Amino acid sequence: MTQIYGRVAVIGLGLIASSMIHAMRRAGLAGTVIGYDASAAHMEMAREDGLCDLLAGSAEEAVRDAELVALCVPVGAMGQVAEQIGPHLRPGTTVTDVGSVKRSVIDAVAPHLSPDVTFIPGHPMAGTEYSGPRAGFAELFDGRWCLLLPPEGCDPEALRKLRALWTGMGANVEEMEPDHHDLVCAVISHAPHLIAYTMVGVADDLRRVTDQEVIKFSAAGFRDFTRIAASDPTMWRDVFLNNRDATLEILGRFTEELFALQRAIRTGDGDLLFDYFTRTRAIRKGIIDAGQDTAAPDFGRAKRQPGE
Ligand code: NAP
Repeated sequence: MTQIYGRVAVIGLGLIASSMIHAMRRAGLAGTVIGYDASAAHMEMAREDGLCDLLAGSAEEAVRDAELVALCVPVGAMGQVAEQIGPHLRPGTTVTDVGSVKRSVIDAVAPHLSPDVTFIPGHPMAGTEYSGPRAGFAELFDGRWCLLLPPEGCDPEALRKLRALWTGMGANVEEMEPDHHDLVCAVISHAPHLIAYTMVGVADDLRRVTDQEVIKFSAAGFRDFTRIAASDPTMWRDVFLNNRDATLEILGRFTEELFALQRAIRTGDGDLLFDYFTRTRAIRKGIIDAGQDTAAPDFGRAKRQPGE
């Protein structure tokens, strides 16, 4: 693959940033990658691992002369980083971000960027429950979606290059409008995470009653919730505080449905439960058919040995 940018600055060297750097390197998409993270420990890991071609002493230093700047910090830190780097961007630079919420990030970042800089917000729809510079891997975006949210009148050449970068990193790219993005993500990601956090919290309370059995006999349903509920607390705190309206809207609907199912259980309405579960099973099939998950039983987990 051919190089798309000569110099790329990446701010915040966590899971998403390190995956981007590995994926860029795999395909030779960037000449030089210069990184910066506010965490001294993460900078040290990046240095030890040779994650970036160069490490900068500050965000301002990292973005100087960059053709592309990728903001990969938690959503709540985007505005502060944009304020820091804004005066140091050279004209013609493209700034993008990978935040899981878009409206509040755009409102926080855009005012700090001059008109001769192109801001194209983005959101790769891929992740894991791990964080930090050692959590990333080159294949994270392969076959997954990356949503780009170009503003009206966005420079077409800047957009073409950013699309090419994400395609080169393995992703399929689609454009979306920010408010629609936030509602879609509230349904498919944000509300499910809150529900998983809640379920694991409830089970943890119950553990005191069940004397460790929750963990000892942990079966697929609960285990899958625990994986989601192990996600980074800073990232997810920021997601909920910054996508408040859409998440509350979906949680309201969720609560109504939960009450309906609760009533069906209490009144013995098996038909309602059966029809409901039939509908949800079809959604799972749709996700597998779209190539977004494996059809292997139990998410393709390796067979465990007896006693393991
Ligand atoms: P991460 O692994 O925790 O990495 C974020 C990094 O940014 C950390 O090293 C953090 O340091 C650093 N940081 C925080 N504030 C900073 C600042 N002001 N200046 C410079 N560095 C700073 O998080 P991630 O999972 O990669 O998420 C990064 C972004 O991607 C978030 O906006 C998130 O919403 C989005 N995203 C995440 C996923 C996912 O599944 N994880 C998926 C798609 C998009 P400390 O740890 O010391 O704070």
